[in-house]
Amino acid sequence: MKLLVIGIDALMPELVYNNLELCPNIAQLIEKGASGAYSGYIYGHGSRDNWISMYTGLEPEIHGTVLNRFKETDRMPRSTDYSDDNTIWNILSKHHYKVGFWKGLSTTPPQIVNGYMVAGEPHYENEGFDAEIVSRKPILIDDKQYLLQYIRGEEPIHPEPKTLKDLGYTFEELKSNPEIIDNLLDPNYFEEALAFFEKNLDFRLQNMISVQKKEPVDLMWMYDAVFDYIAHFQMFDTDHQVLKKALAILDKFIGELIDELNPENVLLLSDHGQKSYREIFPDLSNEIVEEAFGLAKQCIITKKNIVLIGRMEGLLTGLHSLNGFISFSGKAFAKAKLQNFRTIDIYTMILELFKIEVPSNRNGYIQNIFSEDHSIKNKEKMIPVCTKKMVLLIQSEEVSEFNRAINEFYKQNRFKSIYVYGEERYKEVFLANDQVAGFYSNEVNINDINCNEVYAVYHNRVTKNIQFIMVR
Ligand SMILES: [Zn+2]
Repeated sequence: MKLLVIGIDALMPELVYNNLELCPNIAQLIEKGASGAYSGYIYGHGSRDNWISMYTGLEPEIHGTVLNRFKETDRMPRSTDYSDDNTIWNILSKHHYKVGFWKGLSTTPPQIVNGYMVAGEPHYENEGFDAEIVSRKPILIDDKQYLLQYIRGEEPIHPEPKTLKDLGYTFEELKSNPEIIDNLLDPNYFEEALAFFEKNLDFRLQNMISVQKKEPVDLMWMYDAVFDYIAHFQMFDTDHQVLKKALAILDKFIGELIDELNPENVLLLSDHGQKSYREIFPDLSNEIVEEAFGLAKQCIITKKNIVLIGRMEGLLTGLHSLNGFISFSGKAFAKAKLQNFRTIDIYTMILELFKIEVPSNRNGYIQNIFSEDHSIKNKEKMIPVCTKKMVLLIQSEEVSEFNRAINEFYKQNRFKSIYVYGEERYKEVFLANDQVAGFYSNEVNINDINCNEVYAVYHNRVTKNIQFIMVR
């Protein structure tokens, strides 16, 4: 096997790097290869946006899934919505490599490939259920049904976090007496999900090994969503007791998988990280949180915690953050540093590893983290070496809206670092945004700020279009 891809939704780089002693197998991948935090495209809760960008090498607005919804159907994306000749499985198949996909997010219904796709979507939330693609059982195309004899069992049923009702309170009671929530948030709040995580990974482990013996592939790609599910409900715990246990469970799985499959190269990655709402709105008054955070009305806010009650019935304390974890290691990779890496580069890097020409309409780059025995094929895709230009964006609307403009600018400009020129009271909110490198109060004369470019942001609310007008 030339490449094993281990996709763990929301695995946070900080958690990994701060706890290497808890994950010796991951630590070894990091030690031998190139790893780091990298940027996913975050519009909100868009895991599917990111995974489809990896499969296609295209930005979310090009492949059509933004915020987990495919624009033409306004439902969760299916593989048929974005699949074309150049998806990673089709392009590898065309080059006579065999691929095996295990429960990749948004790869249902399974496609015809050289190899197989074991599909079936996870579904842990109380909305967006799509009966045609959600399945704990493996879904295979007709020609591949025979593989079912080597696949044992199915994914376990997921536990649900305790709701306010389970804990004996109503939302209104907590709104008028918010401090109660600090006691309800026990560090082991969603501990029961750990056993589920372990079983879910074990389903993959046993079956990936047994199918690889019968039908070996060159690229095997597995995905698991449970880490993200746990993190959403555990981010209030700054000590990460439960997430550290999840990391150890994951590490054991990775060690066993690599031992059994013995791949030449391993790509371990997540699609984004997680932050607690409190990290995003640090030490701020309720008033500022309410102003800066569009969903504040659905939240219970105390000095220690911000808890969102809504999307799922449990006590949500975390949401997706920009930085995912990524690590390339194995024969083809050197011990090197990753810099300015983004989601669309993953596709490009995988094609480069397989020495396949990258289609010309892909914007991803290649970083030279390859070992000496790999000569670069796609030389024109090498990332340019340059220092980032410092640009100032003038805050021209309320924070929650302006953060969207920042996202957009960040996405369009890989070689610029963003500084915000805005209202002093929101300084901490802007600085907690991973896309923002620094902040200047708009009480300072803008002409005294030394930077390469200054932009005014024009946000057309009718067309939803955002324009950046260079003023200096
Ligand atoms: Zn995700």
